[in-house]
Amino acid sequence: MIYFSTNKTSIPVSLKKATLEGLAPDGGLYVPSEIPRFSPEEIKLLEGASFNNIAFAIAKKFIGSDIPPDQLSDMIDTCYNFVTPLVQLNSNTFVEELFCGPTLAFKDYGARFLARLTGFFAAEEQKLITVLVATSGDTGSAVAYGFQGIANTRVVLLYPSGKVSPLQEQQLTTAGGNVHALEVEGDFDDCQRMVKEAFVDQNLKKSLTLTSANSINISRLIPQSFYYAWSSLQLKEQYGYSNPLFSVPSGNYGNLTAGVLAKRMGFPIGHFLAASNANDSVTRYIDNGRYEPRPTVTTLSTAMDVGNPSNFARLRYFFHNDHDSMTREITGIAVSDDETRATIRSVDDQFGYLMEPHTAVAFSALEQYRSTKKGDDSAGIVLSTAHPVKFLEAIEETLNKKIDIPLNLQELMNKKKSATLISSEYKELASFLNKLDK
Ligand SMILES: *Cc1c(COP(=O)(O)O)cnc(C)c1O
Repeated sequence: MIYFSTNKTSIPVSLKKATLEGLAPDGGLYVPSEIPRFSPEEIKLLEGASFNNIAFAIAKKFIGSDIPPDQLSDMIDTCYNFVTPLVQLNSNTFVEELFCGPTLAFKDYGARFLARLTGFFAAEEQKLITVLVATSGDTGSAVAYGFQGIANTRVVLLYPSGKVSPLQEQQLTTAGGNVHALEVEGDFDDCQRMVKEAFVDQNLKKSLTLTSANSINISRLIPQSFYYAWSSLQLKEQYGYSNPLFSVPSGNYGNLTAGVLAKRMGFPIGHFLAASNANDSVTRYIDNGRYEPRPTVTTLSTAMDVGNPSNFARLRYFFHNDHDSMTREITGIAVSDDETRATIRSVDDQFGYLMEPHTAVAFSALEQYRSTKKGDDSAGIVLSTAHPVKFLEAIEETLNKKIDIPLNLQELMNKKKSATLISSEYKELASFLNKLDK
């Protein structure tokens, strides 16, 4: 399979190059030259298959002979050594819990696969790849734990001192080994600026092979299609529902783009809801056909606070930049913080189910959509992108009660934090990177 850039001026590349490069040289995002199709017979054969078998079938189509099948199969088994529960709330409403990986957020699905592919390709090239990432939370921890112990790779992550939660800080600073955490005396924008400077530093290029692990990497996107495919088949197999609607809590729109990919491959998926918070550049575009990104505003669902989403170019590309064809498959719904809080309360009341803010945005979008589509009883799957424990404060404040979460976090909280404190001056980052083993 060949990959080319959404900007169409860079030359097409192999999956290896697309994975190790991340962004195409022309600034575009890599997309597969064609989306592989599963025939109805192939889909039928996958009904009732395990998550990992479905993941393998999909991955094989994108990877071709670039990775030997038995190695690919092993990689998938080590990536997805946790469950993906599909919880039924009422007859036709389901929550797909994508938070059972090691860092308790859905970013584990993409980051763990990307890490193994990067390790495989780096070994082939006999290179040591340094992954440089600025993080305000979920991405950094998924990348840290995804790349932990992967040969031929190491991670340097920058996070803003005092601006991440204690649980997040533990996740960012305890992976150890080939993962280095830099605690920056500054904010997230400082971290991002320093990382950008490193990528254009010609001096560093001479001694280090740097790559990024953000959500534009095609090898983070492909694996996110696995859980759409799997749950669409599970729903049919277990509950007899076909073509479910997916409600997707969206920030950079990687998750939703992966859903569109799964549908194009032929999996039995119906409509999509793009659920945003007040950062509604894309939901407004879907509504009126005009893309007018605005500065980011802070909301309760912080991981979705993105003013100008990086995967939007890819999403548009999959619809040939045609607004009408996008709106036939996707409805955009923006949800306010007040609506999010009301949803956390009503879901707790009605179902006794604890929902964190990102998931609640998607749940509210599904309810709003259904109220305008009376008579449509298609099944709805709400993607739950984080474990409630990650956003415990917001939930406790909203429900006005103390919550006891029966999850063994003690082990994580007791691990020793290891981070290097640096100022927000680029030269301190450069000096750290220059001192790493070559
Ligand atoms: C990253 C993230 C999102 C947004 O996902 P995108 O793929 O960027 O749209 C939603 N919820 C949580 C908890 C996240 O960490």
